[in-house]
Amino acid sequence: MDCFLFTRSIDTSFKATIDQCPICGRVRIDNRWTNNQNDVGSWLARKIGDRYSKIFNKYGLMIKSVDLSGNSFIMRILSGDNTFVFKGNMELSYKRSICPLCLKEKQESFEAVIQVRAEKEEDIRKIHEVVDATLRTLPPERASEVLVIDELKEGLDLKVYSHSTARYIANRIKALYPSELKETHKLITIKGGKRQSKLTISVRLLKKAGYEIVYYKNKPALVTYLSSGKVKLLLYNGNSVIIDRKLLNKETRVFRGLVEEVVITDMDKEYIYVKKFDTTMLKIPLEKAIVHAPLGTKAILVEDEDGIIILFPMPY
Ligand SMILES: [Zn+2]
Repeated sequence: MDCFLFTRSIDTSFKATIDQCPICGRVRIDNRWTNNQNDVGSWLARKIGDRYSKIFNKYGLMIKSVDLSGNSFIMRILSGDNTFVFKGNMELSYKRSICPLCLKEKQESFEAVIQVRAEKEEDIRKIHEVVDATLRTLPPERASEVLVIDELKEGLDLKVYSHSTARYIANRIKALYPSELKETHKLITIKGGKRQSKLTISVRLLKKAGYEIVYYKNKPALVTYLSSGKVKLLLYNGNSVIIDRKLLNKETRVFRGLVEEVVITDMDKEYIYVKKFDTTMLKIPLEKAIVHAPLGTKAILVEDEDGIIILFPMPY
């Protein structure tokens, strides 16, 4: 049997994703919501049977039974008078999805909406992952406050039960992605003498093409954002360091000094010449300047509090 599997490279792992309601714990089986574990078991056994029948029937083999045990399954397969045993494992994942019962109860009462807007599909997907990861770290009753996550073409919309959880999630996104948060309130009802307002938090991702000048170990450094979730720091001495984006605020501090985009036009033995945006020319003594950008290109001129001038290359 192993030889049979080997020569036909039959996948022994069965993967399935099951919708699960984070509020009541019910799971969706064939469009029906249930909290009966037996329903899940018989559904899985049937799905596994269906999937492997397609493969084994081609060889004139018939599946007699499918038994589940923990994360594995055992299939008995008939071939003439013989019975073979085929073992595999199941990889189940659960997707948050509010069941209609809970939805009905909570839908009308959500108090906050988070609207995440990003241009790239890749960013939207990553933010969805950030949200999922954040929810896994919250206690279940708090995680269940996120009622709906809609993935749209322009971003994500989250309906959240309370203002505080919505703010918490929005700030987690901001901590991992340079973005702008804006809150708007709208008074909706006065329930039992209590003013209720609907909060909308818009999270707009800042373009990654941007750059930033910061102090790193007390010297100016050029920060560029990488798609991997890390940032690259080009240091004053020309070396570069890559750090996690989450550590950016911890490892660096705000730069105070002059930052200006220029074009390097010429260089001689004593000076480097740059043209400013307003077309005025600037002559910088070479002993005062640290040049990392090539002649004839756009550069970022940085002058720190000590009067050190650095010309960083434009990152794009
Ligand atoms: Zn439910």
